[in-house]
Amino acid sequence: MPSEQPSDLPFVAVSDACKTYGSGQRAVQALAHVDLQVPRGRFVSVIGPSGCGKSTLLRMIAGLEEPDRGTVRICGRTTAQARAAKVVGFVPQAPALLPWLDVLGNVRVLEKVNRRAGRGREPQRGLASDPVALLTRLGLGDVLHRRPGQLSGGMQQRTAIARAFALEPDVLLMDEPFSALDEFTRESAQLQLLDVWQELRTTVVFVTHSIAEAVLLSDTVVVMAAAPGRVAGVVEVDLDRPRHHGLLDSTAMHDHEHRVREILETAWNPLAGSGRDVA
Ligand code: ADP
Repeated sequence: MPSEQPSDLPFVAVSDACKTYGSGQRAVQALAHVDLQVPRGRFVSVIGPSGCGKSTLLRMIAGLEEPDRGTVRICGRTTAQARAAKVVGFVPQAPALLPWLDVLGNVRVLEKVNRRAGRGREPQRGLASDPVALLTRLGLGDVLHRRPGQLSGGMQQRTAIARAFALEPDVLLMDEPFSALDEFTRESAQLQLLDVWQELRTTVVFVTHSIAEAVLLSDTVVVMAAAPGRVAGVVEVDLDRPRHHGLLDSTAMHDHEHRVREILETAWNPLAGSGRDVA
């Protein structure tokens, strides 16, 4: 369960964050004056074209990158404090599983390491504290004792997601976790993720290239633009939860996707919508 903090304090608060890589003519302004507030228990997606600073923003929230200017706070803490307190989870694009452990072992291993080092927080009861139930909800109940080399890419990624949820982070950061999956596998992985999230209500920041994925999963879609990387607009997704597969072809879903696409197109070319894809 999330750490105690005043309920009005956002779990993630990025204020006026700027980041430039390199200098002189080679300088790249990856982020310019970015603000992002993620309240407790919200699922927020960040979408935008390649190079608009999505990964930089996520790494900054994770404490892996320092802003040149501005601040990042996680549940009121600095990112260094948040890392030390282990309140931030991270699911990268490529699942980093231990090849010699089976699926269940991979989910349990960090929990054991943390406990041995005395760094683990008291686990709560429920889905997050039951790796078998968690893995089953993510469609992995039949492969608990397979090693990563015996799994498909989608199964590996869902194992990494289960491990992240099992650590009960206050904030879970996900960097395009489904980008390498085929469309069919991706849709079922999205719905399984939603099923688990619906129960745990972890605060999530999710980076994606897919407009449909962003809308299906999120409460809020933050649309970014490139050169410099900035927030171009925000779309609140007021579709009912729990969300299901049937939504994908609904008018409400298409309306939200259209609003995201409009912001992207306007940011790409402020004089005329160009109809370009996100990536
Ligand atoms: P996105 O995730 O949206 O594709 P990134 O955050 O990876 O964008 O990158 C934003 C911009 O910053 C890009 O132009 C990228 O080339 C540049 N960039 C990212 N990381 C570095 C780095 N370590 N050194 C130099 N430039 C970088």
